[in-house]
Amino acid sequence: MTQYEIAVIPGDGIGPEVIESALAVLRSSQRHFEFDLKFTSYDFSAELYRRTGRKITAADMDEIGTRDAVLFGAMGLPDVRDEEGLELGAQVEMRAHYKLFASLRPVRLFAGVPNAVRAEQIDMLVIRETSEGMFAGLHDHHEPSDDQATDRMTITRATCQTLFREAFAQARARRQRGTVGRVTLLHKSNALRSNVLMEKVFDEIAAENLDIESSKYYIDAGSMYMITDPGRFDVIVSENIFGDITSEIAAGLVGGLGVAPSADVSSTHGVFQPSHGSAPDIAGTGTANPVAMILSASMMLAWLGDKRGDQTLNDAAQSINDAVQQVLATGPRPKDLGGEATTAEMTNAVLEALQANLASHV
Ligand code: NAD
Ligand code: MN
Repeated sequence: MTQYEIAVIPGDGIGPEVIESALAVLRSSQRHFEFDLKFTSYDFSAELYRRTGRKITAADMDEIGTRDAVLFGAMGLPDVRDEEGLELGAQVEMRAHYKLFASLRPVRLFAGVPNAVRAEQIDMLVIRETSEGMFAGLHDHHEPSDDQATDRMTITRATCQTLFREAFAQARARRQRGTVGRVTLLHKSNALRSNVLMEKVFDEIAAENLDIESSKYYIDAGSMYMITDPGRFDVIVSENIFGDITSEIAAGLVGGLGVAPSADVSSTHGVFQPSHGSAPDIAGTGTANPVAMILSASMMLAWLGDKRGDQTLNDAAQSINDAVQQVLATGPRPKDLGGEATTAEMTNAVLEALQANLASHV
């Protein structure tokens, strides 16, 4: 039995609360499917910085990067800021350090989940570029000033090529389970030079993948179509900040951040975390919806399974998705989806569905 080493960073606010749920689900899954995960926990958080001034360093990330994958809760507290006035976010540092160029953010309207728009079916994958774009200047030299501040948007051909190839590969894989197979670029090439290059490389990669449909919209009009006609989207790919915003509009279409997982990946490293943050407004109340975190843990298993050719992990991931889908359809339901269930009750319901399904398959 192969052992996989998982670095766990619970972080701040509801991060540790939903991490606990995901670990319970993974532990239950590994007993049934007979795989072996070894968890090592790392305390990097805004809270730690507030107490001790300690931030995640390159050496820390080198060590964490020797593990097979990183499971991340959420990090950041609005009132904890560094010398430059920015929030602490190990997730942003890790994307740069491991060159995690793509953040995969699937959203699906699950049966039983109340949603804000009139759409029968929503099933899309937003791919947010995460290593450059509007975050490119994160470590630029910067003279503190109260009169002027600059951020930098840089797009490179190399990252675009890898990003778009990944997008077309994801669309092809999704088509196998019934989606149309279409990649849409959301961009702003009418006004941003970086986006002119991005669009050009997109057209080149689209021409290499003619079995998959491609389309493009300006990010502003595209944002409107997400609300008025979400069915036209399958895989969406966009720049770092546009992708961040787009993925949260998409999450809003399917019941909110509580059900929106994500996977930040390169070909070698993966950081798996919910799309949401530390939710300080509900931290400590025991009401955080653990579904986004549990689905992120499932994405971790599927990614490891694909990467290592270990089908057991893919089967385990599928069974977790099935259990979550079942619980959302039948209840209990957490507060953000209009119900009363606590984090612990939601977790237990997923564990029960998991065990019931597995018992009936044996
Ligand atoms: P947020 O995602 O933490 O919360 C937005 C809203 O959604 C809040 O009302 C919150 O209660 C709700 N929500 C989020 N996750 C939920 C869940 N699982 N169940 C139920 N409700 C949920 O975003 P924010 O409030 O803008 O930011 C809070 C902090 O998190 C900030 O410090 C921010 O920088 C940080 N942040 C971190 C990450 C990350 O770790 N990747 C991402 C985004 C924000
Ligand atoms: Mn975000």
